[in-house]
Amino acid sequence: MGAKIKSSIDLNKLVRENVKRLVPYSSARDEFSGKGSVFLDANENPYENGVNRYPDPMQRTLKARLGELKAVNPENMILGNGSDEVIDLLFRAFCEPNIDNVIICTPTYGMYEVAAGINAIENREVPLDKDFQPEVNDVLSIVDEKSKLLFLCSPNNPTANLLDESKVVELLESFSGLVIVDEAYIDFSPGKSLLDRLESYPNLVILQTLSKAWGMAGIRLGIGLASKEIINILNRIKPPYNVNCLTQTKALELLEADDLYEEQVKNIITEREVLITFLSDLSFVEKVYPTDANFILILVNDARGLYDYLLTDEIIIRDRSKIQSLGNCVRISIGTREENEILKNTLTKFELKS
Ligand SMILES: *Cc1c(COP(=O)(O)O)cnc(C)c1O
Repeated sequence: MGAKIKSSIDLNKLVRENVKRLVPYSSARDEFSGKGSVFLDANENPYENGVNRYPDPMQRTLKARLGELKAVNPENMILGNGSDEVIDLLFRAFCEPNIDNVIICTPTYGMYEVAAGINAIENREVPLDKDFQPEVNDVLSIVDEKSKLLFLCSPNNPTANLLDESKVVELLESFSGLVIVDEAYIDFSPGKSLLDRLESYPNLVILQTLSKAWGMAGIRLGIGLASKEIINILNRIKPPYNVNCLTQTKALELLEADDLYEEQVKNIITEREVLITFLSDLSFVEKVYPTDANFILILVNDARGLYDYLLTDEIIIRDRSKIQSLGNCVRISIGTREENEILKNTLTKFELKS
C-alpha cells in the first residue's frame, strides 16, 4: 500500500463543457492589483460601519491561516459557505445534468444524495459492508464512463467509523473520476487525514469543515482541498463573494485559539468513552457501534420509543431508524459533561420504566 500512485488524470474529460467555455464573473476586487485606499469601484456605501465593503473573494488571509494550521498550500484550498457549498460546486463543475452519475456508499451523509437530486444527477448507491466499510468490488462493478464523483465519508456519518485507508486508496487507484473523502469528523478520530496523499492522487478531493471540532457551525465555513487544477475549476464557478466578511473575521479570531480547540476535542473524546461505557450497560441498548467521531450510533429495542421519551425531557437525539440497514438505530452527539449527565439520568429513568 502506498507504493502505487496515480500519475495523472484527464481533468479535461471530467469537467462539464459549459464550465470549460465559461468566462467567470470578474468582481471589482478581482480587477485591480496594487494598493488601493479610495475604493470607488464596487458601488458600495462609503460610510464605514465594519461591513460596508465586499469581502475578499479569495479569502486570502483566512486561507493563509488555515494553510498554516493544516500544513497545506492555500492554492490547494477552496472555502465555501459550509462544506455543503463545496459539495454543490463539485456537482456543478463535473456532472452533466441528466447524463452523468455519482456513487455513494450507504448509509452515509444525506447531503450527497440531495445535492445529486438538486443537480439532476443520477445517484448510485452501494451498501457498506457489515462493518460499514466500502465494498471495493461492488463500487467498481457499477462504475461506467459517466461516473464522475465517488463520495466516501471518513469517519462516516451516521455510522461513526473511519473507513479502512487501504480500501480508500484502492478506490483512489481504480476509480477514473474524482474521489471525494469527507473528513468532517477527522479531528475526533485516531486516523490520519488523507491530506498528505493529495500530491500522489490528482483525483482526490478532501472535505473538511469548521462546523464540528472547531465549534463554528453557525458561521458556515467548509474547506475543499485538492490539486491546484481542481481548485481552479471550482474557483471559476463559485459565487464571487461566497464567504461573507463576518465569517472570515470570526473564523480568523477563533482559529487563534488552537489550544482551546485541542482541549475541547480531548474532552469530547473523554466524554465519549464515558458515555460508551454507560450505554453498553443499559438493557435496552442492543449494540453500541464503535466510534471515531463526536457521536455514537446505538441499536436499541425501540428507537422511536426512546426518542419520544428523551423528547419529554427536552433532550433531542437523531432517530436514524428509517434508514435502510439502521433499523432501530439512533445517533447521539457528545455534549458537555453536564449535558451528558442529564442524558444519563433520563436514560436511567427509561431503563427502570421499560
Ligand atoms: C456535519 C457534516 C458536514 C459539515 O457540513 P458544513 O456544511 O461544513 O457544516 C460535512 N460532512 C458531513 C459528513 C457532516 O456530517
